[in-house]
Amino acid sequence: MMPHSRDALPPVRGTYAENAPLKDLVWFRAGGNAEILFRPADADDLATFLAAKNADTRISVIGVGSNLLVRDGGIPGVVVRLPGAFGKIVVEGKRIHAGAAALDAAVARQAAEAGIAGLEFLRGIPGTIGGALRMNAGCYGREIRDIFVEATAIDGRGNRHVLKAADMGFVYRKSQVPEDFIFVEAVFEGEAGDAAEIKARMNALVEQRESTQPVKSRTGGSTFKNPPGHKSWQLIDEAGCRGLVRGGAQVSEKHCNFLINTGDATAADIESLGEEVRARVKAKSGIDLEWEIKRVGVP
Ligand SMILES: Cc1cc2nc3c(=O)[nH]c(=O)nc-3n(C[C@H](O)[C@H](O)[C@H](O)COP(=O)(O)OP(=O)(O)OC[C@H]3O[C@@H](n4cnc5c(N)ncnc54)[C@H](O)[C@@H]3O)c2cc1C
Repeated sequence: MMPHSRDALPPVRGTYAENAPLKDLVWFRAGGNAEILFRPADADDLATFLAAKNADTRISVIGVGSNLLVRDGGIPGVVVRLPGAFGKIVVEGKRIHAGAAALDAAVARQAAEAGIAGLEFLRGIPGTIGGALRMNAGCYGREIRDIFVEATAIDGRGNRHVLKAADMGFVYRKSQVPEDFIFVEAVFEGEAGDAAEIKARMNALVEQRESTQPVKSRTGGSTFKNPPGHKSWQLIDEAGCRGLVRGGAQVSEKHCNFLINTGDATAADIESLGEEVRARVKAKSGIDLEWEIKRVGVP
């Protein structure tokens, strides 16, 4: 694909894989390969790698790909994926320390077990803590910034940063920390609550979600951000796009701000369907929808 060979990369304790399929690592189950997939052994290994790599090596990071569309030509350079060693979750009073590879749902469950309220919304978001920090993930009126205490990230030169709320630049579905920062862990805080009540709220949230969203499909979650004062799904519906098909991609019948891979969609099918939806919404309502799904890699 591109000129990066693993021989030119610094020695690490983790693993490198060349021309590694990403299809099975992302929710859409579509798209191309990583030129090199790097799974660091731990945060020191990641920092050593970032400090020692060539300055022109392209680095990107993925979580579990629940908000990603990897284009069919794959991702050039090194794709970092944090393995299970980054998934530790520790409760300390009303605080939760979570590794960036921990699943949001696992953090929500541990918080509930410990009687920490306020993190229930994480149960409904199928990503990792790293992805949640980058996206300021949220639902049902709560988002990451509401529970955030601090996060640790490693920049593209291998320097470690401890970021407080003011450093995160949280806005709707995004944090504005520099693109080269890779989060490795975070601390969140909730309020004291009753474990049984927290679990009941979490279960209600899961039920509500399963009845309104195609959460068991191959999808990337909400495709477009809600424009101020509007709901994307409504604009898409009014533009006649519910159920629209392109190749193996379809606008979900259940929730039309979700695109789904009905079986053998290419990333191009999914992206061009999304663009068609944008064009139809623009023609109908005059509103430009902005992609919430991150589209990465080369066509
Ligand atoms: C069925 C379904 C329902 C969803 N519902 C919601 C919802 O209600 N609310 C919501 O906010 N989102 C929702 N999403 C979208 C998605 O789950 C979130 O955006 C999630 O936070 C992405 O996490 P991830 O680990 O999958 O990240 P990925 O999709 O892998 O990556 C997303 C972005 O985060 C970056 N990233 C990932 N890990 C790190 C890291 N360690 N350091 C720095 N950057 C990193 C990536 O580079 C990329 O830019 C939904 C998705 C699906 C499939």
